Amino acid sequence: MDIVGKNLAQIEEFMIANGQSKFRAKQVYNWVYLKSVSTYNEMTDLPLQTRELLKEKTNLCSISIKDKQVSKDGTMKFLFEMKDGAFAEAVLMRFDNRANLTACISTQVGCPMGCSFCATAKLGFKRNLEIDEIIQQIFLIQADTGLKVTNIVYMGQGEPLLNFDNLIGSINIFREQFQVGARRITVSTCGLIPQINKLADLDFQSTLAISLHAPNQAIRSEIMPVAKKYAFDELISCLKKYTEKTGRRVTVEYVLMKDVNDSVENAKELAYAIAKLKSNVNLIVYNQNEKSPYKKPNKDNVLKFKYILEASGKKVTVRLERGADIDAACGQLASKAK
Ligand code: SAH
Repeated sequence: MDIVGKNLAQIEEFMIANGQSKFRAKQVYNWVYLKSVSTYNEMTDLPLQTRELLKEKTNLCSISIKDKQVSKDGTMKFLFEMKDGAFAEAVLMRFDNRANLTACISTQVGCPMGCSFCATAKLGFKRNLEIDEIIQQIFLIQADTGLKVTNIVYMGQGEPLLNFDNLIGSINIFREQFQVGARRITVSTCGLIPQINKLADLDFQSTLAISLHAPNQAIRSEIMPVAKKYAFDELISCLKKYTEKTGRRVTVEYVLMKDVNDSVENAKELAYAIAKLKSNVNLIVYNQNEKSPYKKPNKDNVLKFKYILEASGKKVTVRLERGADIDAACGQLASKAK
């Protein structure tokens, strides 16, 4: 059994089953979730015998940091090795103008969605991450840096909504154990309609971001195979229902790629398509990667695109590019072990 990823009741159950007093669980819990220590030896208020028992019967954390790179802008990319030798990455970002520290984490090894512009897609799909493996990414980032993660985005490798139970389970642990508020958590999806409906039924209170990336079905289905299964118009109506049910605005993510989806016409069509959808727009300038033919848009097109959406009444942000020099930016996570 892994300790990191368990809640207090589960640790208590273990302690009692192993003849320990229940309050030892709270001590372990505090070391793990409040202090992020990464060895049992550091849990100095536990009797030696309890520490030995824990070492013998549990793993504190079973994933490990295989590699860490730091970008010029301070962004860090962590390569984690799982118990079975599989790799997944996470990114830690600080934005200059804010005190927040945002971690971008993975939910799958590889990804099955096959978006034509994304480096992760080129890895193919290996498996879902277990719930402990998702939670331990945040634990190890905090243990390694000594910093507290304040915001979590499920925008690393994989499609979070295909690992639904572990997504929801890990969000609960982040909220309850790591004290990260629901509103500081964002889940990004390529647009799986049944799962979005499930989130609506759960009255999901974190932010849902949609990788829309196109103003219509024709362009979307060319770059995102998922659009062949869940069509553009159906996705927009599903999102409208979602915002009505949850009372929460969604974020429309739109990666601008030169001559693919970055024209003035594309902007107008997008503004029209999402006019009645309660949403903010997050424009992402395409990050080039080795294996892909797509190019960055001209600066001028980005500004025009932003202006047109703003003029239609949307709040628009252009996502700051982070960590591109270490392949840590959006769509560059390809788990290259060195
Ligand atoms: N599978 C989920 C979570 C991944 S989030 C989803 O699709 O939303 C990663 C985000 O980066 C997605 O919006 C993805 O479409 C975007 N992205 C992929 N490749 C990119 C690239 N080369 N440049 C910029 N953004 C990219």
